[in-house]
This record gives sequence, structure tokens and C-alpha cells, in this order.
Amino acid sequence: MFKKVLIANRGEIAVRVIRACQELGIKTVAVYSEADEHSLYTTLADECYCIGPPQASKSYLNIERIMTVAEKTGVDAIHPGYGFLSENPKFAKACEDRGIVFIGPPVEAIESMGSKINAKRIMKNAGVPVLPGREDPIEDPNEVIEVAEEIGYPVIIKASAGGGGMGMGVAYNKQELIETIESTKSIAQSAFGDSTVFIEKYLEKPRHIEIQILADKYGNVVHLGDRECSIQRRHQKLIEEAPAPIMTEELRVKMGEAAVKAAKAINYHSAGTVEFLYNNGEFYFLEMNTRVQVEHPITEIITGCDIVKEQIKIAAGEKLSFTQEDVEIRGHAIECRINAEDAVNDFIPSPGKIKHYRSPGGPGIRLDSGVYGGAEIPPYYDSLISKLIAYGRDRNEAIARMKRALSEYMILGVITNIPFHKAVVEEPDFIKGNISTHYIDDHAEYLK
Ligand code: ADP
Repeated sequence: MFKKVLIANRGEIAVRVIRACQELGIKTVAVYSEADEHSLYTTLADECYCIGPPQASKSYLNIERIMTVAEKTGVDAIHPGYGFLSENPKFAKACEDRGIVFIGPPVEAIESMGSKINAKRIMKNAGVPVLPGREDPIEDPNEVIEVAEEIGYPVIIKASAGGGGMGMGVAYNKQELIETIESTKSIAQSAFGDSTVFIEKYLEKPRHIEIQILADKYGNVVHLGDRECSIQRRHQKLIEEAPAPIMTEELRVKMGEAAVKAAKAINYHSAGTVEFLYNNGEFYFLEMNTRVQVEHPITEIITGCDIVKEQIKIAAGEKLSFTQEDVEIRGHAIECRINAEDAVNDFIPSPGKIKHYRSPGGPGIRLDSGVYGGAEIPPYYDSLISKLIAYGRDRNEAIARMKRALSEYMILGVITNIPFHKAVVEEPDFIKGNISTHYIDDHAEYLK
């Protein structure tokens, strides 16, 4: 097992990784930008080093700076968390070149899933269901008009290099299609430095359902069941639950097998997530996230598997200690992302100092937080404060506990989306499990 691990991240996920390391008896090295000097995770790590100014491009995205600390402190491995450099093949390669283990998948797997077109092509060839469309970059708009007519409107134009819900445009007719191709290309170029876009069928009320997988370096792949992440704003998740309310044993087996097939197709190892869109009993590959996800705790709770520890053990060369038959789903878990943002005002971020802080607790509650009373939420990064997770023997109990925990949670000094979450857990469609990726828009009036 590793002796010392560097965590190339910040906030709650840095805390999460430090906790896993401590339980495995591994020393930790934290890196921080000037904006995070007094952050919770820097106080929990065994060593910590400043890697630059607040702007992520000069600190958390600065490969050289991070590598300098890694070499100076003599770490065996680096955990990248999520976001920042976690899906950057150059970073994984930089670790490899220095003989430091990257706690994540092989460089080639990150590369192949980094391009949405490429990922879709690989999955289609591997027999994983994908949405109708073309897995080629759009060059001639006339050709695309033909494709759109063939698959039927509405269609979606997507940036191949897209992420974070950006670089997607929907078209309901020929006129809109031409405009959307142009606008999405230009967003793709400015946001991702790559104007490659492609077309696929747009589903109007799908559910976003994903499968967590774990794979070791010896070809053993298991899945840990499903999560539903349909409640999104600007294509970004706000509430996740496991299992999905519509899940059946039969569907889970089918989706799980597709996800395992996807992982095997790219010789994957580490933790990963295969995302699908679900509509009318059918599911389609959306993308694969080659890292630990924000919402991993809900799966940990219903399976009893510590995904971050498994990731570390796999990276250290251990074999998976269990098989698919050993995976048992018990109860129901829901996660609310507690963000410093104003849900009533278009979810605009609300950074600042937390003046007063009281965290919830009691039966069935887990809180993965990156803050404390007096901590600062810097304006430079995402606005995630913590993840409130509620567990119950069934969905109703999980909802009741979430409702109670939200009422206990007190954060003063910054605007949070706690009132939004309180409204959702009392909303009749949510309670019935009647949700889609348009849930927030469809219930905008009620949630205000
Ligand atoms: P990103 O990489 O930016 O997160 P994804 O490919 O994961 O983008 O898609 C994010 C969200 O966008 C999905 O959860 C879904 O809500 C929506 N979406 C993407 N493709 C489609 C599609 N073909 N039809 C309907 N919604 C889609």
C-alpha cells in the first residue's frame, strides 16, 4: 500500500480523500491556492503547500507546480478528485513519467472518453446502446439536415470536447438547426478550444440514470448499481438518488451489463461512471466519467462499499476483493448538493464568509462538507459547500430524513440553496418519483 498520497484538489472532495487515506494508514499532502489557505482540508492533511494564486489556471490546473510538490514530498501517488485535472490525460501522463501512481484510469482510457464523438463511436462498436445520430464531426450543414430528417426533430448539437453542461444546443427545425450548429461551434471553440460538434436525437423528457463501476488492473469489473441524477439546472446535477425510483431488478441487470461492457471496451481500471439517458424503457449511452463523481456517497451508502478506498487499493495494484454476486443494494439514499447560490435568482453564485454554521445529524444522515463556521467560500471555484446525504430503509424514509436534516442545517453569511432543496422534498411529483431532466423548469413556480 502507498505510504503517502498527494491530493490535487480542494474543498469537500479533498476532505473525502484525506479521510480514506487516514483509514488506510496513508499520510496525506494537500495543495492549496492562496484563496484556500484556511480551508478545512488543509487543516486535516499531514502536510500542505501553497501552489499559487487563486485563479485555478495558476494553481489547481498548474501541472508543474503540483508535480514539484509531489516530488519534493516524495509521494507514491496522486488522487485528482473530480473536476480540475481529474480527466486530463496530460496530468495522468505527467504522473506516470515521474513514477508516481495516478489514482485513476489508464491515460488511454481518459483520452478516449475525453472526446464525446470518440466515446460514442467506441461504445456503439462495443454494442452499448447509443442515441441515433452521427458519430462524425459536422462539416457540411446540408448533410446534417439530412441526418436530422432521418432521425427526426428535435435534435441536439453537442461539443465533442464539452463538459459541465456547456456546449449543447437543441433544434426543432431546419432553420434552428443551421443557427444552432454555428452558435454551438463558436461556444465550443471559446470554452474548450475545439469547435468539433456532432448531432444526435434530442430526448424531450428523459431521465439521467448512471451506473457506478469499479474495475481492477486484472480485468475484473463490477458495477455498484444505479443513481438517478435527473434534477439538474443548466444540465448540472443538484439532487441525486440511489436507486433510481423507476429501477427494476431486470433493468439494473441490463444497464449494469452495458456499463461493464463499456468499461471492458476501453480496458478501464479504477472507479468510473457510465451515464445513460433513459426514456420509455430504453436507455442510451451518454458519456463516461473517468473519475470519482460528486454523487458517489449515495452508492456507498446503499452498497456498503467505500469507493474512494477501493480506488486507492486498485491503484496500488490490489485485486477487487468481491464479485458482482457479492454486491447487494440495501435501502435508499438521496444527496442534496448544498451550494452557495441563489436558487430564486437564476442560481447565481453567492460566495462569501460563513458567519454561523450548524450542521445536521442524527439517524441516516451523512454530511460530506468542505467548510466550518468562519470559513470562506471563494468566488473562484464551484459553489459547492457540502453534500447532505440521507439514508432510509426505503425512499419515503430517506425523504423524511432529508426534510428533517435540511431543517436542522443552518448556514448564515452566504445565500444557499437549502430553501430550494426544502421545496423539492415537499413537492408532490418529486415525492412520487415523477421526475425528468426538466424537473426544475417544469416546477419553477412551485420551487420559488
Ligand atoms: P456534460 O459532459 O457537459 O456534463 P452530458 O453529455 O453529461 O454533458 O449531458 C448533460 C445533460 O445534458 C444530460 O444529463 C441531459 O440532461 C442533457 N442531454 C445531453 N444529451 C441529451 C440528449 N441527446 N437528449 C436530451 N438531453 C440531453
